[in-house]
Amino acid sequence: MDVIKVSPRGCCYGVVDALQMVRQAAKDLTLPRPIYILGRIVHNRHTVEELTALGVITLDGPDRASILEQVDTGTVIFTAHGVSPLIKQRAQERGLHCIDSTCPEVAVVHHLVCELVKNGYYILYVGKKGHPEPEGVLGEVSGHISLVENIEDVDALVLTAAQQEKIAATTQTTLSQWDTKRVIDYIKTRYPQAQAHLDICSATQLRQEAVVAQVKGADLTIVVGDPRSDNTNRLVQVSEEEAGVSSVRIEDLSQLKREWLQGKKRIAVTSGASTPSRITREVIHFLEQYQPEEDEQT
Ligand code: SF4
Repeated sequence: MDVIKVSPRGCCYGVVDALQMVRQAAKDLTLPRPIYILGRIVHNRHTVEELTALGVITLDGPDRASILEQVDTGTVIFTAHGVSPLIKQRAQERGLHCIDSTCPEVAVVHHLVCELVKNGYYILYVGKKGHPEPEGVLGEVSGHISLVENIEDVDALVLTAAQQEKIAATTQTTLSQWDTKRVIDYIKTRYPQAQAHLDICSATQLRQEAVVAQVKGADLTIVVGDPRSDNTNRLVQVSEEEAGVSSVRIEDLSQLKREWLQGKKRIAVTSGASTPSRITREVIHFLEQYQPEEDEQT
């Protein structure tokens, strides 16, 4: 099988640094035990399993506040997605030792919304409902920010005259840059006075642009990553909507269905920013060895 190995793909520096902090914490015997991660450090099951083997407990739940309720003692690690100031405060009140692995690209948006609100702006934040990253950003300036996922959400907003007068827009870091730009452009049309920021991180942008530039001519794009990883799911969307190449997401090689390969000559492979390289390499290796005729004869 002819395989297009989309590049760059896979782990970004934010994920690499966060994992490094967790591994370091696991080795540091001076840290209070147990060591918990508040939510999945990255949205990848394989990575979570690896950290569990090191003795670091990943807690999960609908939001950071309810996850924190499960912790009475020890060390908590905040994930690369960032947390709200309230979560940091509650963790300190409980006497927990805190390690913050928030990605610097997310921290920039936290800082931006605080500055905007300080300067009197009301903020429209383009992001995904229920994702931990918006939860942290919204918690920085609650009461001065609305979460919008799409154009319909923008239309449904009821804003006061003062909010409309000084309005700004910013975004989650891991969305589709084209989709998000459409929402930001719409906000600019509805509120021409809006100060707009497109804050998709550079790692996400580069991986999405690589898909658009490199998968053309492929019969299928396989995206390797966890179903809960937003940037992984966006790569599927980008392949289909921006490059016009149908796409499937798999967590690892065990989920690859042979019928997807039937009649295909060229497959593109990429992976989310939280997918370990080893998992993607296994998929690429399998595809490179794969002889389409074998299945056709059986
Ligand atoms: Fe940071 Fe972007 Fe990686 Fe998220 S995808 S951890 S924002 S570099």
